[in-house]
Amino acid sequence: MQPETFKVMKIKSWLIDKNIQIHQVYSGFYNSFLVCVNNNCVLIDTGREAGYKRLYQNIIKKINTSSQLKALILTHTHFDHCENAFRLKKDFGVKVIVSTFEANYLSSGYCPLPKGTNKISDFLSGFGHRILKNYFSYQPVKADILISGKQNLNKLGFPELEIFPTPGHTKGSISVIVNKKIAIVGDALLRIIQNSTFPPYADDVPELIKSWKVLLNTDCTMFLPGHGFEISKDELAKNYKKYTIKYGLHII
Ligand SMILES: [Zn+2]
Repeated sequence: MQPETFKVMKIKSWLIDKNIQIHQVYSGFYNSFLVCVNNNCVLIDTGREAGYKRLYQNIIKKINTSSQLKALILTHTHFDHCENAFRLKKDFGVKVIVSTFEANYLSSGYCPLPKGTNKISDFLSGFGHRILKNYFSYQPVKADILISGKQNLNKLGFPELEIFPTPGHTKGSISVIVNKKIAIVGDALLRIIQNSTFPPYADDVPELIKSWKVLLNTDCTMFLPGHGFEISKDELAKNYKKYTIKYGLHII
């Protein structure tokens, strides 16, 4: 593992009610969110391997014992979202949750990059797939729980958490909705550039925009992407309108 240099940053948190909090335990270009309900938590996405120390320390700041971290939910299986899954499973004994469509990618340690949604990202996607496969590979992990549709995490002790399939970036992309208020969406949305939520990579753009409609139809008022900053419902609605027109889509 490469050593990482980082500034000590305050962990950004969202308090949904006194018993439910979301903590951004890895931030910057890659986001990981720790969702705590009463005394138990789940982690959503892991960031890059070089950031494991920071991720680990930030999780430890928010929990009292490692057994409080019950599960790791992977919004999809690209390297930058699950490179630390193997170590988290080893260090915390978490159950790993992923879409049934991506369990094989996870257990092989490689998920192909999606197609680019612009000329540059499309070139990089093709180039990366051919030349940089090793760079996009990670330590394989066997999933413990597979998601094949909309699902509540009641059985794990988290009735406040619901998983929604939000395909398009990849076939098995999922979002986690916390207490019907905030959605953690992986790469279904991106917020690096002001006013744009459109990711540079997506296997199926119409499917992706259909997933935005699914998210807009929830009661959520805020969307936390895998990269960049939070997105308001208004901003998502504006982008939804823009991209349905741009791609000539008629989504009911
Ligand atoms: Zn991705």
